[in-house]
This record gives sequence, C-alpha cells and structure tokens, in this order.
Amino acid sequence: MKFHLLTIFPAIFDSYLNESILKRAQNKKIVKFQIHNLRDWTKDRHRTVDDAPYGGGAGMLMKIEPLYDALNDIKKLNKKIRPTKRKIILLSAAGKTWTQKSAQKHANLEEVILICGRYEGVDARLKKFIDEEISVGDYVLTGGELPALTVIDSIVRLLPGVLGNENSIIEESHATAGVTEYPQYTRPAVFTIGRKKYSVPKILLSGDPKKIKAWQDKQQKKVK
Ligand code: SAM
Repeated sequence: MKFHLLTIFPAIFDSYLNESILKRAQNKKIVKFQIHNLRDWTKDRHRTVDDAPYGGGAGMLMKIEPLYDALNDIKKLNKKIRPTKRKIILLSAAGKTWTQKSAQKHANLEEVILICGRYEGVDARLKKFIDEEISVGDYVLTGGELPALTVIDSIVRLLPGVLGNENSIIEESHATAGVTEYPQYTRPAVFTIGRKKYSVPKILLSGDPKKIKAWQDKQQKKVK
C-alpha cells in the first residue's frame, strides 16, 4: 500500500513514520510513504501557496493551483492503478469523522493521497478534485499533518503482516464497533505504595482459560 503526503512541512513526517511499527512495515515492504512539498508546484519566486480569502475573514487560504497541479502529477506516478483502489483525501475539521470502521474500509486500498491543510484551510474548489474530506475529531488543529498520521497509523496496523501478533487487531478496542478492550495487567501481581496494595484481579492468576475469557468478555465496555 502506498501513501502520498502533500504538505508544506515535509520534515514533520520524518520522525513518526520512521519509528516502531510504521518503520517495520516499510522495511517489510508492506507500505511505502512518499512525501511531497506543495511548494514544488508553485511558480513564483517566493513559492507562495496561500492568499487572502475572497469576501474577507481571518487568515489566509491555500491556493487551488499548486494543489491541483500537485494532485495531477502525483496521480500520474501510478497510471496503472484502478480508480477504485485509490482515494484522495483532504484532512479537514469539517470532514466526516474518522473511525476504526473507516480504517478497516481503507485498508483495502492500494494508494491513498493525503492533503494536509494549513492556515485557514484550502480554497473550497479543491473539493471537486478529491474523494473524501476527513476529520479526526471535533476540534481544530493547526495543520493536517497530525490528522494524516492518525489516518495512516490506524490503517497500517491493520495490514496483514504488520503487527507481531495478528490477534491484537481482533481483540483491541473498536475492532467490533462500539466495544472497547477489557482491562489488562502485567507483573507485579501486587503493586505496593506504602501501606496501599493494588492487586491484579484474582481470576487472572487462576490459570483457568475458560474463566479468564468469561471475565474478559464481561469486562469489555460498550461505548455509545
Ligand atoms: N478554518 C478551518 C475550520 O474552521 O474548519 C480550520 C483550519 S485548520 C487551522 C488548518 C488545517 O488543519 C485544515 O485545513 C486541516 O487540513 C487541518 N485540520 C485541523 N483540524 C482538523 C481535524 N479535526 N481533522 C482533520 N484535519 C484538521
């Protein structure tokens, strides 16, 4: 699976994409990331990507031309791909909320192009050239880079061969919509601070897999 990231701050991605599970997924050739600096598609000396909004209002907006040209060129990098296997996503606080179900659906794609907004967002005409507008929650961030990483991370951990233990995906929170994972504990069995003792639930030390499973099932929380 390939992810293209379109941004004016390419360096943001260096660290996160090159650590831990995402790094391993790249080493195993399960996933590829290509980061594009939107300023490479500007035509003026100052490499301008923003301008003031028509009708006034606070801040600046990302201009349509460099975004459109960049999308066109990025799409040309893989001419063979079937349209159903690629999605162009604009990260936007006004978009559809991203969920585990969204991640599961998108894990079947071959290519995802993620457009990271900045300033007050993008010229609304960009919507004609994208497939989806996605929000990571009902709050406003400074840019689309963190949301893009959220989308990538949630998809990549679902790809076959990425996680050490495939059961992690089945058992974790939201794998079944609206259900969160049971509480888990590790050594020591009793954690002591002064006179206070914090013990692991006895059932987990019983060695009885049936009883443990029944306890875990009961502990799973149903949300919303
Ligand atoms: N003026 C915009 C609004 O009111 O919706 C907010 C713009 S925000 C400061 C700049 C960029 O950050 C957006 O274009 C988008 O790419 C990204 N962004 C901010 N919050 C986001 C969220 N909750 N989900 C996805 N992207 C977000």
